[in-house]
Amino acid sequence: MPSLDEFGLIARLFAPLAASHPGALGLTDDAALIDAGPSEQWAITMDALVAGVHFLGEDPPELIARKLVRVNLSDLAAMGAKPFAILLATCFPAGVAEDWVERFATGLKIDCEEFAIALIGGDTVATPGPLTLAVTALGRVPAGSALLRSNARSGDYIWVSGTIGDGAFGLDVAEGRLHHLEEAAKTWLLDRYRIPHPRLSLGWVLRGVATAAMDVSDGLVGDLGHICCASAVGAVVDATKIPLSPAAEAAIATGASIARVLSGGDDYELLFTAPVSVSGKLAELSASLGLRLTPIGQIIEGSGVTVIGADGRPLDLAKSGYKHFGG
Ligand code: ADP
Ligand code: MG
Repeated sequence: MPSLDEFGLIARLFAPLAASHPGALGLTDDAALIDAGPSEQWAITMDALVAGVHFLGEDPPELIARKLVRVNLSDLAAMGAKPFAILLATCFPAGVAEDWVERFATGLKIDCEEFAIALIGGDTVATPGPLTLAVTALGRVPAGSALLRSNARSGDYIWVSGTIGDGAFGLDVAEGRLHHLEEAAKTWLLDRYRIPHPRLSLGWVLRGVATAAMDVSDGLVGDLGHICCASAVGAVVDATKIPLSPAAEAAIATGASIARVLSGGDDYELLFTAPVSVSGKLAELSASLGLRLTPIGQIIEGSGVTVIGADGRPLDLAKSGYKHFGG
């Protein structure tokens, strides 16, 4: 919702409606937590995708379906929850081809099998507007062990999984920018944009290890700002430590801006904080999962996110293209 102050509106108009339910986490986390018996909680989240905004109209329907499922599972990963079911709402514009819907359902089937989840309900309506799709995802987590955004502590290291910036560069490729990159790099970035990999195994093992976690969906710096707000702390990030894929490095080497890495969305990696004392444990987890985990900075007392550039000086985030909501 780029033209409106999304988070200001949620805080002012919607969060009051959540106040009576502690599991809503003030509408400031990746999912709500609902008690399901004495030893288990359900994590529940919802994300919508709109044609022309979150995917391109001509994208393959199978991939749109899989991205829709995966962006929701990414929020469950961020809570340390295991998915078990989804609900699906489809708002089809007039004239949607049956073949399109069949291919969309094929994509859903592939990912329902891949993640061992069932489609348990939903709604199908027509719309005069663009194709709009929404999924609600449900996951399970042992009671009291979910990863929240609100427990980061001063001194914790800030970590990210995988590589950052590929989603934004993948969108650039999809929209015809970065044409000077080699074909293999372009294809790789496009795949990263179209098929996120929810870090479910990582989220599960981070329970009891990480102090705070979220998934990077809207951009690294802005998303880290949400952890800072929820935990009432500040953060310092070393831009030179942010892990980049060879394809993203190639994009930057040929003129793409580091601002895309800092503020571009669609990475769906996990961003988390952890005490310095568990750094060795995290290195072991990284090796056993076969997934890169990189410390990129540290939580400090105070507020806000400072990014230090290669010259040792804070980057001017407003100048570097970082868009922030709420002020
Ligand atoms: P994410 O990027 O992790 O999916 P969002 O940025 O979409 O999270 O949303 C931030 C928080 O606000 C979440 O807790 C979400 O549940 C809540 N939220 C967003 N939109 C609404 C809404 N229309 N009504 C109630 N809660 C909302
Ligand atoms: Mg999230």
